[in-house]
Amino acid sequence: MQRQNARVDNFPDLANSISNSKNAEAKLTTYWISWDKVLTPKKNGGLGAISLRAANLALLGKWLWRLKSDVSSLWARLVLSIHSSSRVWKFFPVRMGITGVWKNIVSVSNDLNLCNINFMELCKKQLGAGNGTFFWYEDWTGSGILKDIFPDLFQLESRKMCLIRDRYQMNGGSLEWVWEWKRMTLSMAEKIELSCCKLILQSVNISNVKDSWRWLGDNSGNFAVGSLRRMWEEFSFPELAYKHFWNNWVPIKVNFLGWRAVLNRLPSKRGLANRGVHMTSTTCVLCDADEESETHLFLQCTWVKEIWASIALWCELDLSGIDSMEQILAITHALLQSNAQKKAVNTIILATICFIWKARNDAIFNNKRVSTRLVVEEVKSNTFLWVKK
Ligand SMILES: [Zn+2]
Repeated sequence: MQRQNARVDNFPDLANSISNSKNAEAKLTTYWISWDKVLTPKKNGGLGAISLRAANLALLGKWLWRLKSDVSSLWARLVLSIHSSSRVWKFFPVRMGITGVWKNIVSVSNDLNLCNINFMELCKKQLGAGNGTFFWYEDWTGSGILKDIFPDLFQLESRKMCLIRDRYQMNGGSLEWVWEWKRMTLSMAEKIELSCCKLILQSVNISNVKDSWRWLGDNSGNFAVGSLRRMWEEFSFPELAYKHFWNNWVPIKVNFLGWRAVLNRLPSKRGLANRGVHMTSTTCVLCDADEESETHLFLQCTWVKEIWASIALWCELDLSGIDSMEQILAITHALLQSNAQKKAVNTIILATICFIWKARNDAIFNNKRVSTRLVVEEVKSNTFLWVKK
């Protein structure tokens, strides 16, 4: 419990303090991808690294879920004995005057509210015999909280903290609602509310199992830390303009290379020069003609165009008019083939980008020149291996 108290609200500050503690050389580090893009979920076009803040909130949220779903455990009974009140019902009981771990954990639901995540609405009561559900305070009918719908009846109730089990009895196999009003005679308004209340109660199914909770944030109905974390991340890091298709047939480093190439975040000669790195020459080593930017290196270079011509012939693709990395990676959208065939084409394109990059690195760092024919063969053989795997 003590460890749960260690919140990471100020994670950027933590990251800064780490980087500041390094020597001055660290200040010269070139950052290629913004931290937000790294943390943006893959679904929204980012790298999908886990946000520590989101993971921390979700782990703390698990204690809220446990309080509801495991109410008979010793720690839950201890928390309830300290924080619950016999006069006021709260979904997550907390006495604000008592500082400590539990107060911090309950405040997580407020943090989540800021991200449009209503923790209480994600906890759905599964009604059984009604032994663990407050009749007036909880939404167990699906129509809303009865004390809010029928305020006059609630005023008339003599035991406001009664459970559902206190308000019915089984009479010869049929369900009968029983009431404990403060007075015997009901006003006209109260009678109307009671009729409406009975209408709602007609559709309620009481069984002899225990009341339980269902987590609406996950299809399984069970609380999962990952489901809450993903909700927070998807809200906090909205969709990027470019949504990369993370192809699981392809090694992660190749996916990552393609993603960086689209974002112009590879250490091409132009990219390095833009970031203040002194370059003796920014000329493309493959064609020795133009400046080496990502677009030139992967698409416009005369040497590379030969490779794409062979790939286009092999896959029967029309690559005319393609002049950006985003376009070439999105070319599968226009294909009329099955999803598996589209994924295979995407695999070939990523492999081509990968082996062009390898040929360029071999030429610069190993002084090794390869033919375009060899690059195409490498693309074909590796694509075959990746798809087969
Ligand atoms: Zn070139």
